[in-house]
Amino acid sequence: MISIIIPFHNEEQNLPILFHKLKDEINKLKIEYEIIFVDDGSTDLGKAQLEKTIEKDSKSKILVLRKNYGKGKALETGFFESKGEIIVFMDADLQDDPQDIPKFIHKINEGYDLVNGYRKKRNDGVDKTFPSKIYNKLIARLFNVDLHDINCGFKVMRREVLENVRLYGDNYRILPILAKNEGFKITEVEVDHHARQYGVSKYGFWRMLFGFFDLISYFFLIKYVEKPLHFFGTVGVSIFALGSLILIYLGIERIYFQELLYRRPILFLGLLLVIVGVQIIVTGFIGELIVYLNKRQSR
Ligand code: UDP
Ligand code: MG
Repeated sequence: MISIIIPFHNEEQNLPILFHKLKDEINKLKIEYEIIFVDDGSTDLGKAQLEKTIEKDSKSKILVLRKNYGKGKALETGFFESKGEIIVFMDADLQDDPQDIPKFIHKINEGYDLVNGYRKKRNDGVDKTFPSKIYNKLIARLFNVDLHDINCGFKVMRREVLENVRLYGDNYRILPILAKNEGFKITEVEVDHHARQYGVSKYGFWRMLFGFFDLISYFFLIKYVEKPLHFFGTVGVSIFALGSLILIYLGIERIYFQELLYRRPILFLGLLLVIVGVQIIVTGFIGELIVYLNKRQSR
């Protein structure tokens, strides 16, 4: 059985069209399915209209979040209410094409655990496509994955993936990486991407900025969550070493060449680097302590 989870926020014009298109495609597949729409605090008439549209359809339902919690929460809620062994995430804005679903399923049947969409010809403005390109290149490098479009909203995965990678906050954006990190097999398929016809995009510049923060924090979490001292230690020791070199140099000048230190402003830099370096190293130890205590407790 497959569960199709569709989060939406103010997409009233898109929803009925999407529903009919989706039904047409999925009926061709001849598999058991359910469609779960998640209303992420819409303020338009989308929900009422959709209710009417799906009235006689026992395989579709609408979940409602009390307010606009964001797409991540909507996906999580949809997942909790789903029963399928295969989970499909897709956007409600008609930019993703239901016709592509069979391609994803095919890859899953080949043995992949998560299949990510790749919007090769993306129909969005350059303000989106350009930062997204850089972001994807960066991610591919940092995490050593060869995907082109990590944050494509269209993806299909086995249920186990989401049982092992808990969705929270905005981590749906890098779901493929988190899945790979847990040992799941991931791949991508090219999908058609249409320009938005109705409604407006819910994301802009800030999403890019937050996306960047997320990237740094996940990089840290994935690589160093069990060995924080490796990270803080490396950074701290480097800074400390630089500061020490400066101080040693100044010390030699003072002792052997009678240089007066109040004439050397670089003294402050040396002191600062040494202190900051020590603090960063100590932060690493505190990190190790937290990891240790957590492990001891959870055993
Ligand atoms: N969405 C949502 N909650 C939000 C923002 C967006 O459920 O707070 C949905 C939105 O309705 C759409 C999908 O997430 O179905 C992707 O959003 P959008 O199309 O605005 O993003 P873009 O394609 O412009 O990056
Ligand atoms: Mg969109």
